[in-house]
Amino acid sequence: MEKLKNFDYQDCQITSKSIWSPYTWEDKTDWYDEIYDQQDYKRFLNEEAVMLPLVTVADVQRLQEELVDVYEGKKLYFQAGDCVELFEDMNEIALKDKFDFLNTISDYMQVLSNKPVVTLGRMGGQFAKPRTSLTEEVKGVTMYSFMGQIFNDYAPNIWARQPQLQRILWAYKASQMVHEHLVDYTQEKHANRTLFTSHEGLHLPYESSLTQQCQDSNGYYNLSSHFQWVGMRSLFEDSAHIEFYRGIENPIGIKVGPSATPALLDQVCTVLNPRNVPGKVTLILRLGDKVSEVLPNLIKQVKSKGHKVIWVSDPMHANTVKNAQGVKTRSLDKIKAEVKQVSQILRENHCYFAGLHLEASPDNIYECADSCDLMAKVDLGKAYQTQCDPRLNFEQAINVVSCFINHSKK
Ligand code: PEP
Ligand code: MN
Repeated sequence: MEKLKNFDYQDCQITSKSIWSPYTWEDKTDWYDEIYDQQDYKRFLNEEAVMLPLVTVADVQRLQEELVDVYEGKKLYFQAGDCVELFEDMNEIALKDKFDFLNTISDYMQVLSNKPVVTLGRMGGQFAKPRTSLTEEVKGVTMYSFMGQIFNDYAPNIWARQPQLQRILWAYKASQMVHEHLVDYTQEKHANRTLFTSHEGLHLPYESSLTQQCQDSNGYYNLSSHFQWVGMRSLFEDSAHIEFYRGIENPIGIKVGPSATPALLDQVCTVLNPRNVPGKVTLILRLGDKVSEVLPNLIKQVKSKGHKVIWVSDPMHANTVKNAQGVKTRSLDKIKAEVKQVSQILRENHCYFAGLHLEASPDNIYECADSCDLMAKVDLGKAYQTQCDPRLNFEQAINVVSCFINHSKK
């Protein structure tokens, strides 16, 4: 354990921007070397982890085309799912519930807005979580933090928390199952739209292993899911994650937190989308009570540089608090207040508010409170099931979507 240190995302080196391969990111971080023995994980990925593409280039390109319609204001964007997927939820019933949930909420959004909805599940690869610290202390014992089941397990003991290479393959198999069920689901016509998959592109050994060059276009596609996003903690100049994604053709999300400066956002948009293709970049704003302070300047910069981006709100991640019992929760009041503020500021600046990115579940849960006053009532009982961030239940998700529609119609 002495070898472990807090993961410092700034602790990376600067290398030339001109050469790119699915592995140039390796020069920019030693994070994986702290978790896995470097020789072991390379051998594992080369020899044991046979991972074939989970999605097709054609479907990724279809999503890109749909996102052009979103960019042009013809369609809405809806992305939702668990904060972290779990292996134990990989069964036909649970997956169908999740597809139905995404489909039903998208239908609702479509009916209220009179616009088609492009729907992305946070699923089929959402197994890696960024943590502020690589380790934590539980009852006096120092152990790895839970980083998602692609790395380790959530039980608070040193054995469960020990990263295992084999998990990369388990996460792949679980993602494969999601994609297979998704194909069945859409073919059985349960869905009147096609659903796409998405996750945070965090575990770069996994993401780069699933990246292939497309013979027709020469471009590289990450076929681990249709869409990935760069998390807030990976958003800094010369990050390994930006390095990886600058060579990838898939449409991409960027989580924009309160510390993102206009200059950084300009630079990242340029690096990730050098040809300024509309629909390629979605800015997922997660600003909490900093919306009015930060958003106008970000918009000003993006507009003055002419970046063709989609604007989406994630009203969840900057509104996470611990209640008096120490339980991680979020209040619907704050979530809706963020949606309303983002809507107002985008409208004042003549930008199209395209949609929402939510953490939500079809299960009978109560992890987010209905209002600030009720936060103390959220406890670690049966209705609190998340192993990471608190999610909205169906009713709460509908409530947030209605708030989005009401404000974006004004
Ligand atoms: C997430 O989407 O679960 C997440 C960690 O988000 P962010 O990078 O915005 O904090
Ligand atoms: Mn989360």
